[in-house]
Amino acid sequence: MIRVILFAAANCALMAQQVKYGVPVKEGPMDSLRLKDYRPDSSLVVAKTKVTMARFPVIDAHSHASMSGIKTRADVDAWVKTMDETGIEMSVVFTETAGAEFDKLADLFLKSYPKRFQVWCGMDTRDIDAPGYPERVVRELERCYRKGARGVGEITDKGWGLQSSEEGALPRAKRLRLDDARLDPFWRRCAELNMPVNIHIADHPSCWKPLGPNQERTPDFQGFNLYGKDVPSYEELLATRDRMLDKHTRTTFIFCHLSNVGNDLAALAKTMDRYANMYVDIAARDYEIGRQPRSARAFLERYRGRVLFGTDMGRERSMYEGWWRLLETADEYIPGRIWWPYYGLELRDDTLKSLYRETALKVLNFQ
Ligand SMILES: [Zn+2]
Repeated sequence: MIRVILFAAANCALMAQQVKYGVPVKEGPMDSLRLKDYRPDSSLVVAKTKVTMARFPVIDAHSHASMSGIKTRADVDAWVKTMDETGIEMSVVFTETAGAEFDKLADLFLKSYPKRFQVWCGMDTRDIDAPGYPERVVRELERCYRKGARGVGEITDKGWGLQSSEEGALPRAKRLRLDDARLDPFWRRCAELNMPVNIHIADHPSCWKPLGPNQERTPDFQGFNLYGKDVPSYEELLATRDRMLDKHTRTTFIFCHLSNVGNDLAALAKTMDRYANMYVDIAARDYEIGRQPRSARAFLERYRGRVLFGTDMGRERSMYEGWWRLLETADEYIPGRIWWPYYGLELRDDTLKSLYRETALKVLNFQ
């Protein structure tokens, strides 16, 4: 009897000791480490190239006044100084506003530096059920155009609709979607005024997966998670994009963050092949590009003329330098924002020129 119990206990201990890849895994202090505190130091000794200035002049087609903390003329001056030091010729600033708020920002940027900034307006999404909304939203667009807006952005639908967010979310049927017929005159007018539109549709696909042991992105991103929330699926949101593109072939649509399909560049390529007026920017998707440098380079070469450079991460000098290192060098194992270290793409000069500036010169309105 005793022998049986001893045998069972020994068996239990064996079962508790995990074996991975043929090596026993022992218990230790790392078992109680919190995921968000995990910051491994790398022992890898490889080239670390500092690129302070972009190799060619750059038009940053995705930035925000709010995220860049711009309130005064002095803030704008400081931004221009950083742009000079890093090689940014012009920044496109998404104000995401209309009305008086837009006018204020337009004055702030355009009166001081009309050649260094473009300001883009938002969309009036108040009272969309009121009669006359389709005409009203167009009238405000025209007014913003006269005030200096040369594009519209960033227009966002992460599932809560174009006019709302999780806080104060409207019932699903009330949420305005990209393919809503009430917006048809607006998209048409954007084409007539030659105003490109920057759209954030859906979000990174990991947002629709549970927060837990299999969640792809770090805890820093959990605030964006949508799993189990009252939103359409990732696929349903992308379908609103496609239905809008089906209807509006003359409007220039730039889907930011690689249209949130940067995890599957083959799928993105298929959609881009289908819609000639579809463009993307790479803003805030350093991690998608950096974790698949060969696929990303092939994509950027093949879709030259369809991809714009954008940052979307404030206006720190080190942020710009990080982009130049990623796109221009062959550095390996570059510390990244998620778990994934990045690998430099070492883009060819013609691809770089197109990404940095030439595509923007073709797509943006400089009138
Ligand atoms: Zn943005």
